[in-house]
Amino acid sequence: MGADGVGGSVGVARPAFRLASREPGQATSVVEIGGVAVGGGEVVVCAGPCSVETESQVLATARAVAAAGARLLRGGAFKPRTSPYEFSGLGEEGLRLLAKARAATGLPVVTEVMAPQQVGAVARYADCLQIGARNMQNYDLLREVGRVRLPVLLKRGLAATIQEWLMAAEYVLAGGNRQVVLCERGIRGFDSTHTRFTLDLNAVPVVKALSHLPVLVDPSHGTGRADLVPALARAAVAAGADGLLIEVHPDPARARSDAAQTLDFAAFDALMTGVRRVAAAVDRHVVRQDPAQATV
Ligand code: PEP
Ligand code: MN
Repeated sequence: MGADGVGGSVGVARPAFRLASREPGQATSVVEIGGVAVGGGEVVVCAGPCSVETESQVLATARAVAAAGARLLRGGAFKPRTSPYEFSGLGEEGLRLLAKARAATGLPVVTEVMAPQQVGAVARYADCLQIGARNMQNYDLLREVGRVRLPVLLKRGLAATIQEWLMAAEYVLAGGNRQVVLCERGIRGFDSTHTRFTLDLNAVPVVKALSHLPVLVDPSHGTGRADLVPALARAAVAAGADGLLIEVHPDPARARSDAAQTLDFAAFDALMTGVRRVAAAVDRHVVRQDPAQATV
C-alpha cells in the first residue's frame, strides 16, 4: 500500500476514492446532459468540430450530426494548443455560436473550459463543461467545476493512470458536483509512428468495474487518424463504453485544429451505421433521428 492509500500492483489496488467507486451491485450513474441521459441503455454520441470556427461551420455540422443520430454537440471555443502560434479558439463568440447551433438543432452543448476564471462564462452557454486532457490535474479548475451545477466531462490526462484519473473525478465529486462523465481519449504509448496516441480500451472495463461513473471514448484524439476512428468507435462500444466523442467538420482538410482525425459528414454517417450494429450486438442502442424508426 502506497502513502496515498493505493496499492501498487495489479489486482491488489485498493481505491482511495470514496465517491467515484462502484459499490457491489451499484448501477452505473446516469448523468443528464441537457436532458440527454448518459450511462443508461443508450450509447450516446457527442459529435462536432474540434474548434468552433464560423457560424455556418458549426450550424452545418450540428445539423449533419443530429441527422445521423448524435445526441450531443461538441466544439471548442477555448482551445488548449501545443503551440502558442496556433488557433486557440473564438472564445466567448464561439460559445454564442454553439448556443445558436443548440437552438437550431436541440442538441445540448459540450465545450471545454480551460481556467477557473472561465467557468462562469462557459457555464452560461454550455450544458456540460469539458475538462481537457491537459487540465486533468489542474486541481484549482477541478475544484471550481465542483461548485457548479452543470455536468462535467473529465478527459483522461495524456499520461495519467486510471487511479489518477478517478482521483481527479473525486475532486469534482467531493466539491459537491455529482454529475461527472469520464472520457478515455488515448494515452502516450512508446509508439507514435502510426497513431497520435494509444486509445486505452483496457480502461473501459477497468473503470466500469471500479467506478459507477459513465465512460465515453474519444477515438478521434485516441488515434489522431480519421481512417482509424470508425473501427475504434465500434471497438469502444463493444468494450462497454456509454458513448463516444467524435470530431466532425464540413471540410476536414480545412479544419483549423485536428484536421487529420476529423470525419466529414458522410464518414460520420457511415460510422454511426457501424456503431449501431455493434451496439445491438451488446444489447445497447443508438437513437436514430429519423422519427419513423426511433431506435434500432
Ligand atoms: C478536444 O476535445 O478537442 C481536446 C482538446 O481534447 P483533449 O483534451 O483530449 O486533447
Ligand atoms: Mn480536438
